[in-house]
Amino acid sequence: MSVLSAEERDVVGTVRTFVDREVRPVVRELEHADTYPEALIARMKELGVFGLAVPEPWGEAPVSMPCYAMVTAELARGWMSLAGAMGGHTVVAKLLVAFGTPEQQDRWLPRMATGEVRATMALTEPGGGSDLQAMRTVARRDGDGYVVDGAKTWITNARRSQLIALLCKTDPTAQPRHRGVSVLLAEHGPGLSVSRDLPKLGYKGVESCELSFDGYRAPGDAVLGGVEGRGFAQMMTGLETGRIQVAARALGVGQAAFDDALRYAQERESFGRPIWQHQSVGNLLADMATSLTAARQLVLYAAERYETGQRCDMEAGMAKLFASETAMKVALDAIRVHGGHGYSTEFDVERYFRDAPLMIVGEGTNEIQRDVIARQLVARGGLE
Ligand SMILES: Cc1cc2nc3c(=O)[nH]c(=O)nc-3n(C[C@H](O)[C@H](O)[C@H](O)COP(=O)(O)OP(=O)(O)OC[C@H]3O[C@@H](n4cnc5c(N)ncnc54)[C@H](O)[C@@H]3O)c2cc1C
Repeated sequence: MSVLSAEERDVVGTVRTFVDREVRPVVRELEHADTYPEALIARMKELGVFGLAVPEPWGEAPVSMPCYAMVTAELARGWMSLAGAMGGHTVVAKLLVAFGTPEQQDRWLPRMATGEVRATMALTEPGGGSDLQAMRTVARRDGDGYVVDGAKTWITNARRSQLIALLCKTDPTAQPRHRGVSVLLAEHGPGLSVSRDLPKLGYKGVESCELSFDGYRAPGDAVLGGVEGRGFAQMMTGLETGRIQVAARALGVGQAAFDDALRYAQERESFGRPIWQHQSVGNLLADMATSLTAARQLVLYAAERYETGQRCDMEAGMAKLFASETAMKVALDAIRVHGGHGYSTEFDVERYFRDAPLMIVGEGTNEIQRDVIARQLVARGGLE
């Protein structure tokens, strides 16, 4: 935490207090009823969480990437779904700040900063999410606008987001293929339907949807930055933020699992002593804490590198890979420590176990992260 200024430590502290006082007491009920957390999202708006990436003149001072990561981790420590509800939103905010035209920035950013307008990004298609350049959603020029046809899937918060950063092809014949890709700033309207809410293992309370575009019309000025063909590069930059965010979510879930396990291991007794004093249980706790500490350092390292403006796809990939695999292992070990109670829906550890795999698969699977890391290792001539 030393990389954060005193002011930023206060921001993280405020979110930590919110999580402990307002989220943790209600999360189990919301989770099991799969209820959209209306009141908690409203509180996150009041706390300024949706404006963390929006600078003046549209918002207040944005926080640094390390602070953003630590806020994300705190939210995920309470409920991963809350961190998910602000993840895509802040990626889109950063895309607008970096690449938007002045008109696009003035139109969207002030209302995104307050959370009045929520945003999501739509990349994945039913035919696949890893090979994005093979996408089939096409926006064809028609008069002074575009007509969009295609389908997207697994789009988080799609019903409640007024703004959808849609990755699509404006030139399906372009070679190389990424030159034909653009980000369209789409809004709900005729021709765009949310066709289905997908049932899920975890990540409850927030919707993950299929979107269908059928003759959907977008105005000519809806292309992010106003120039076609730059969308792939723009989105890859956005994914650096997205992957740090997902890594931070994993950190929060792992931290929650560890905290519960540490507490339980001191309360529960067997053979006349607290179970942590049995070496097998103590070793689990030691390994959990060691891996989590390493994961935290990787997340902060990637975030600091982002903050200095350096390329950080490899570092974000490493953070996401390691933190998510750590969260999964820590969640399972927390179940071990809890014995039979670990398998009970009256405890929280089963939720961590269901939430952790999303960070392995989402925002580019860990196989894809390894691919990014290996390519960068070769391109950079090894580790710096
Ligand atoms: C709850 C949830 C929320 C999501 N939210 C969003 C969202 O808001 N917006 C959005 O756009 N997407 C979202 N996604 C989609 C997510 O990003 C994709 O699921 C992910 O990128 C993988 O794509 P896929 O499911 O099509 O898997 P595929 O691409 O079909 O991959 C299947 C398997 O093959 C492996 N594989 C594929 N290609 C390679 C390769 N070259 N090398 C090695 N292995 C490979 C993958 O690692 C994986 O194991 C969400 C997903 C979930 C589950």
